[in-house]
Amino acid sequence: MDVFPIEVEGWRRVVRFVDEASGLHAIIAVHDDTLGPGCGGTRFRPYADIDAALDDVKRLSRGMTYKNALGGIPFGGGKAVIIGDPKTDKSPELFRAYGRAIEHFGGMYYTAEDSGVNETDLRIAAETTAYVAGVADEGKGGNPSPFTARGCWRGIEAAANARLGRNDLEGLSVSILGVGAVGMGLSQHLHGAGAKLVVADVNETAVEEACDRFGAEIVSPQEAHAADVDVYAPCALGGAINLDTINSIKAKVVAGAANNQLYTPDMDQALLDRGILYAPDYVINAAGVISVGLEILGAWSAGEMTARIDRIGDTLSRIFERAQIEGRPTGEVADEMAREVIEDARKAA
Ligand code: NAD
Repeated sequence: MDVFPIEVEGWRRVVRFVDEASGLHAIIAVHDDTLGPGCGGTRFRPYADIDAALDDVKRLSRGMTYKNALGGIPFGGGKAVIIGDPKTDKSPELFRAYGRAIEHFGGMYYTAEDSGVNETDLRIAAETTAYVAGVADEGKGGNPSPFTARGCWRGIEAAANARLGRNDLEGLSVSILGVGAVGMGLSQHLHGAGAKLVVADVNETAVEEACDRFGAEIVSPQEAHAADVDVYAPCALGGAINLDTINSIKAKVVAGAANNQLYTPDMDQALLDRGILYAPDYVINAAGVISVGLEILGAWSAGEMTARIDRIGDTLSRIFERAQIEGRPTGEVADEMAREVIEDARKAA
């Protein structure tokens, strides 16, 4: 395997791996390892070129630094990309070679699933590296969606308290875009807490299920953001908050599980300007990485997971409070608080 270190200012270590025999072409990036080894999933995508792959792995690994810091787990930010088409380019040889590439980091990087990479792939990589998470036996981690749903529910409670002065969710109205693995679980928690639901999904079976089980009102995916509700919860794809949607959001809170909800960074300020409280996506949806972190530490238990997830609500409350006092957007404040966690650890070291 050919190993090409790449100097990137501000990143701890970035390395490109090329293995002719298996067809592996990957970049692993550790952004910051102050809190512990870099931890974040592997994405398998047909990037247009190496620069596009490098840009993505840099952006994603830095995001993991912040997510892990505010998730309260002793891990830094890391991420990896494999360049190729996951539908046609996967092979056991490729993932064994990828395991050797991870091993090259000597424990500075732990991987897990991301788009294009599943548990079967990771099990093969784990034949050649010890630094794989998300392949735990039953009862020691596994599918993160129910945890993410619980974290969102706790996050919505915190946001409803901060923005609407609510101490419970009885009668609170929530529009959920995307009732998939997380959105359906979130619906169940909210329904149990007495909230009124509006749901939208391109999958008709899913919305019908939400209607039957939780009495949810169904709207089209194009209308979900504009529903006359207290909370808008994007739980489908990224980019839900954009120039086309922001001005018709009627909710006072945006809090959902989707990654990269802000289509452009300026949407953070735009939400504040409209008086909408935004729960930063990487904070409210951190339960999956918390599960992975506990699995790596050998500290996973259902009780520990529940306790940690419930702290997501406390973290968000602190973000909301500081943002309110300082009149600043919540995403910006969250990033700053993540940097402070890292700086404090650096000073204490
Ligand atoms: P999922 O695929 O199970 O559910 C997504 C749902 O959104 C599906 O029902 C799908 O039909 C629907 N959808 C897709 N495109 C849509 C559109 N244009 N309009 C309306 N509905 C649409 O995924 P998930 O695991 O529930 O994750 C949802 C979001 O949360 C994703 O952005 C994911 O990255 C993020 N997230 C998930 C987890 C987790 O633990 N699963 C953790 C962190 C972040």
